[in-house]
Amino acid sequence: MAATGAGRLNALFLNVTALFCCACPVIVIAQQAEDAVTPDDSTRAVSSTVERLADRIPLVIAHRGASGYLPEHTTESAAYAHALGADFIEQDVVQTKDGHLVVLHDITLNAVTDVEERFPDRGRKGRHYVFDLTLAEVRSLRVRERHQSAESRRFPAGSGEFQVSTLEEHIQLIQGLNRSTGTDRGLYVEIKKPAEHRSHGLDPSKAVLSLLKKYGYESRDDNVWIQCFDAHEIARIRTELACQLPLVQLYGREPTEEQLQAAGKIVDAVGIPVSAVLTGVRDGGPQLSEVISRAHQASLVVHVWTHRDDRLPSGVENSRQLLEWLVLKGGASGIFTDHPDVVLKFRAAIQRSGPIRGPFHLLQGKPGPGSEKNRSDR
Ligand code: CA
Repeated sequence: MAATGAGRLNALFLNVTALFCCACPVIVIAQQAEDAVTPDDSTRAVSSTVERLADRIPLVIAHRGASGYLPEHTTESAAYAHALGADFIEQDVVQTKDGHLVVLHDITLNAVTDVEERFPDRGRKGRHYVFDLTLAEVRSLRVRERHQSAESRRFPAGSGEFQVSTLEEHIQLIQGLNRSTGTDRGLYVEIKKPAEHRSHGLDPSKAVLSLLKKYGYESRDDNVWIQCFDAHEIARIRTELACQLPLVQLYGREPTEEQLQAAGKIVDAVGIPVSAVLTGVRDGGPQLSEVISRAHQASLVVHVWTHRDDRLPSGVENSRQLLEWLVLKGGASGIFTDHPDVVLKFRAAIQRSGPIRGPFHLLQGKPGPGSEKNRSDR
């Protein structure tokens, strides 16, 4: 399996360094990079980000923060994801009427806020759009958990003081926590519905890249991924907006061969649903598609969405089983998760029996903006 080949680090070294990973990331990274270089790697221009991520299999992406524990996308949820140790913390981004970037999953506010009670006359056909409200108005709302099952109704509407926050606040929070804890957690930003935004005279991609640049994120080695479902927008981000940051093309279902080949010329990774990898369970065993190996053939690593400990796919017994199938059998390099601690625990357990190096070499040598390869494909 391409994603699970044993690396060159000896197990003892990795086990010892893993214990100190949180406290001394710079030392560990430097030592691992030095030891992990294979003859093949040494001929390449190794990106520090790529090298740094190579031994984190699976990469742990906190989906809407630690959203299995706290209302999604709140700063509390992001802070808890950071404390749990997620490698990257996700921010879905939408723009308000006055152009502010806020961290919300939907372009409407109905599912996770009390907008209907606060602004009963501002809806359109029962939907309240973020584009129709100013930041001050969005701020006045209270955020609650999306999943309101009996088990997860911990923060219903009206309880707590959870608010919508801006992307800038999330960046400041994560950078601040990185400094105060000596860690280097990254951002994983999704541009939501760019076409709808543009129809309202807004351009979230441009605004996001500008804000990221203000906070020092602008090159391939910076600790951020940009993701979007819209393939046209992803191409625009890479070419017209000249973005050099690692990009992720998202898919709602298994991508076709043509889609993967096209994506491989533009982006670094694809984000695909669990159901596109694990198509079923038969006689207690997984039925896995070929999508991840096809993505690897297109020079793409795969981040799978979304693991949630209390909502496992039909036939799956527990999180550990699901993660073994997705990562060890399937070859996933990263997992979006509502419960980062569960995936981190899984990673620690599998790394105890030896290092796993993912196919991050696939990201090396990717064309940057303005390269011949990109120009010819525009
Ligand atoms: Ca997302």
